[in-house]
Amino acid sequence: MQDVPNTLKAYKTYIDGQWCDAASGKTFQTFDPYTGEPWALIPECDAADVDRACNAAYRAFESGPWASMTQTARGRMLRRIASLVEKHAEHLARIEVQDNGKLISEMSAQLKYLPEWYYYFGGLADKITGAVVPVDKPDTFTYTLREPAGVCGLIIPWNSPLLLVGWKLAPALAAGCTVVIKPSEYTSASLLEFMKLVIEEAGVPPGVVNVVTGYGATAGEALVTHPKVAKIAFTGGSATGSRVASLAAASFKKVSLELGGKSPNIVFDDCVLDDAVNGAISGIFAATGQTCVAGSRLLVQESIHDAFVEKLLATARTAKLGNPMSFETQVGPVTTPPQYQKVLSYIDVAKGEGARCVLGGGAAGPEMGGGKYFVQPTVFTGVDNRMRIAQEEVFGPVLSVIRFKDEEDAIRIANDVIYGLAAGVWTQSVKRATIMPRRIRAGTVWVNTYRAVSFTMPFGGFKSSGVGRENGQDAIGEYLETKSVWISTAASAGNPFVMKTSPQS
Ligand code: NAD
Repeated sequence: MQDVPNTLKAYKTYIDGQWCDAASGKTFQTFDPYTGEPWALIPECDAADVDRACNAAYRAFESGPWASMTQTARGRMLRRIASLVEKHAEHLARIEVQDNGKLISEMSAQLKYLPEWYYYFGGLADKITGAVVPVDKPDTFTYTLREPAGVCGLIIPWNSPLLLVGWKLAPALAAGCTVVIKPSEYTSASLLEFMKLVIEEAGVPPGVVNVVTGYGATAGEALVTHPKVAKIAFTGGSATGSRVASLAAASFKKVSLELGGKSPNIVFDDCVLDDAVNGAISGIFAATGQTCVAGSRLLVQESIHDAFVEKLLATARTAKLGNPMSFETQVGPVTTPPQYQKVLSYIDVAKGEGARCVLGGGAAGPEMGGGKYFVQPTVFTGVDNRMRIAQEEVFGPVLSVIRFKDEEDAIRIANDVIYGLAAGVWTQSVKRATIMPRRIRAGTVWVNTYRAVSFTMPFGGFKSSGVGRENGQDAIGEYLETKSVWISTAASAGNPFVMKTSPQS
């Protein structure tokens, strides 16, 4: 990393323990979404760099210090990584805000929490065990080994870059894998800073963690199709995830996918109103709606619909737009220009479909505290669940309010989308709080809270929201292969022409 006087900060990427430019020498600019100005140059890696990174990761996996490191020592290294993230959390948070425009209050809290993933999976590193398995054949000793899957390609979106790297990197390293990370082309800088301040500083051996910065169609696809990669862990949009899964299938790679959502936030008439209003607001306006778990469909029981919407609007109207670097700001810019256009076009779609715009409904210029890529917090009522605004992921501060009659109606509407990432339920009834999570087809259901995550709780999607789970003990299984070992202690090898299926053969 070096500062280019009077111009942009020029980053290098990190492959095989070396700081380097892309082989082609090409770079691209990264932008501050608040000012709309470029602030850094990032190497534009392509297939040649991906090949170098995957070969380095493969060598590090097969031989060298990482391959021979004990599981306990790996755990210790993860804990070193954790304490370095702790040390640099504030700096890393500021870089993320500069690159993705999310609020400093959110990114700062996220980065301070992130070390827990490395502590937790560091603790699990030497608790990965196989089993001695009794089989129905005499004179046989059989056991299983749980081995690292190999080189893993980690593909990351722009909305919470280092958190989503951590969800993959911590279990991958705990399992003993080596990795090649491709960050989003919009938010590469925080990962490169992390590599310098954390991975290099922690003494992670060369080749164990590599980064290829670049575009999805070039660097991303080269990673997904590289023959030395055994597993792809992807977070991003569902359409991209589908392409990634089909490319990976050609070489039978293991794949886990964390994709999009259209999550229902369901408000029953017996809820604590103030809590539910807060939950609805934090579900859609926090992070400018750019979160996979955004509660973008607000299902409100018809008996309280009008009163609830009024209360919601009263709070939503007070949202303070502004510089995401200020702790006072409540709604920041949309991260990328294409995303900004997409959000505005969905607002037009909703208006065209006949939904009633009761708040916002357009761009937010400087006179509203906004700027180049700001969208007003927007609320539509009178939304029918079959409308596109209720079916498709907007990934912006746009809320669709949908009425429902009773529990059955709420469940029908909640499940009537292709997604199944998350849901919220607001009720004081124990019965509803128990039944609703069972009936909703989603990987996470929050009752009387929203957007809570933990390193110990599995996270992932049903249906088009994903495959596999991150976080929690099971996440480590995504980075392991099971091997069965059979040792015969019999006096004779038996009949060579018969498969050993029965105790006698
Ligand atoms: P995206 O799908 O456009 O990009 C994600 C990553 O994939 C980027 O690094 C991109 O460069 C790469 N990529 C793009 N095309 C590729 C290809 N053909 N082959 C390989 N890699 C490719 O997503 P985004 O716009 O960066 O992020 C927003 C999306 O991510 C939203 O849909 C959101 O819901 C989803 N998301 C999901 C979760 C979750 O945990 N379920 C978390 C955050 C974001």
